[in-house]
Amino acid sequence: MNTLCLAGGRVLRPDCTVAAADVVVDSDAGRVRAVGEGIAADYDADETLDAEGCLVTPGLVNAHTHAAMTLLRGYADDKPLDSWLREDIWPAEAALEPEDVRAGTELGILEMIRSGTTAFADMYFEVPEVVAAVERSGVRARLGHGVVTVAKDDEDAAADVEESLAVAREFDGAADDRVRTAFMPHSLTTVGEAFLREATAEAREDGIPLHFHANETTDEVDPIVEERDQRPLAYADELGMLTDEDFVAHGVHVTDDEIALLAERGTGVIHCPASNMKLASGIAPVQRMLDAGVTVGVGTDGAASNNDLDLFDELRDAAMLGKLGAEDAAAVPAEAAVTAATAGSADAVGLPGGRIEEGAAADFAVVDLDAPHLAPAHDEVSHLAYAVRGSDVRHTVCDGQVLMRDREVLTLDEERVVETARERAASLAERAE
Ligand SMILES: [Zn+2]
Repeated sequence: MNTLCLAGGRVLRPDCTVAAADVVVDSDAGRVRAVGEGIAADYDADETLDAEGCLVTPGLVNAHTHAAMTLLRGYADDKPLDSWLREDIWPAEAALEPEDVRAGTELGILEMIRSGTTAFADMYFEVPEVVAAVERSGVRARLGHGVVTVAKDDEDAAADVEESLAVAREFDGAADDRVRTAFMPHSLTTVGEAFLREATAEAREDGIPLHFHANETTDEVDPIVEERDQRPLAYADELGMLTDEDFVAHGVHVTDDEIALLAERGTGVIHCPASNMKLASGIAPVQRMLDAGVTVGVGTDGAASNNDLDLFDELRDAAMLGKLGAEDAAAVPAEAAVTAATAGSADAVGLPGGRIEEGAAADFAVVDLDAPHLAPAHDEVSHLAYAVRGSDVRHTVCDGQVLMRDREVLTLDEERVVETARERAASLAERAE
């Protein structure tokens, strides 16, 4: 058995308390063997990570993103969702080549590893390229092909649906089981009813979960209400799209009945506060969802609407925006935001991780607290929510493997990844025009 030890730090426990402890990992199994003060000396570790002066937290889980959209970072800003998608993003995405997706995803994963994220849920195209990037980089992911059927003829639409189901079947369990998959219709308005109904039934037969955008903007909610005299999530429920394995992105414009429905079905909601602010989509009622018992995770959404993939930024936004939305400074407190970005996200997307305890997945971010903006340390959980930046992460570990040590990423060639992404982005922008 190969043993990895994270020694001399303080550890965030599942109940959100912090205590001095070493973490001992079975790196072959990718599991935590033991957590305890001074236990490092009891194990003959093959590899030790120095965590002195650091806080060891569960690896963060970015529960909704489109990682390859890093290529479109800063490509089009300051527009509402609908015209931003139609005028800028979709035309650029129509010019995407598989190599673009590979380059953009590797850049996204590099950024995530460097900011302590060890797992993500990704909806995009050219999924085999995304799988290859996940395999090489050592992170975990739940992946899927995003389906859009509107403005397509029946044959093209059916092929898009089939591709999403096919990649979900083919790649589930890839990369030593670090890759899981889902069927991913883009949203309830961009995929037709018959396709949703049929494909959802097929996905259920094969035990494939669903992930889709829901209730993101009023422009998306109102047409459903007008046409069907039904709220979007009631419509999704009728189509069989809400189970405890499924998760939706955004949930900004949800009624109390829809929140109760999400809680009853056990469907996770991924809160994407920066994207919601930037596209002026609205403020998700996060505290009301938590009070109702909904599993809430946190995601950055794509880099084109954020514009970075730093989940520490995002969980701070979640806490801030949650208070503003509830008009209550006690809403979405630090513990709730930190839990949402770790255990909440992991549970919502159905990936291991999110908690440091014996037997849990060995996924960690080791945050260096020795920085002026983190002194003094009255309350480390407060720091995680309000003061830590992704660049404070010193080591990143996933599945018992060290992905970043002392800020050097070991699984990806940083210089090459950044340079390739720059080149692909430049040629993509040219092709899109
Ligand atoms: Zn999205």
